[in-house]
Amino acid sequence: MARGYERHYERHQGLSVFGKDLVRRCGAHCELCDAQGVSLKIFEVPPVGSEADFDHCVMLCESCLKQLRNPARRDPNHWRCLNKAVWSQVPAARVLAVALLESFIGREDWALLLREQLYLLPDEQAWVDSIEL
Ligand SMILES: [Zn+2]
Repeated sequence: MARGYERHYERHQGLSVFGKDLVRRCGAHCELCDAQGVSLKIFEVPPVGSEADFDHCVMLCESCLKQLRNPARRDPNHWRCLNKAVWSQVPAARVLAVALLESFIGREDWALLLREQLYLLPDEQAWVDSIEL
């Protein structure tokens, strides 16, 4: 019990250490939909290892987080933001955006059109494929 708590605590501490750098990186904008002036939370892009990894962290707004966690409530209009997010300079944000985009293929025409414009490195594609949304 105590062990689990400790691990959780350490992970939490690990993520808090990233906080400042993440805020600086994202410029206080949601790294998927670009919303600003909203509260942002750290989301760890899977696969998540035993230790917190800065390169797997993205800063997301409440609205993105909620829809990310609840596929049934994903609003395709909200996710038009992927048009921009898939070009992100931040690998974790880009990979998460592509994984989300792929979840819309077959339902939204724009998703396939956008996906066809993207070229991912094999490593990135493997990362995308490993994310279950
Ligand atoms: Zn957002």
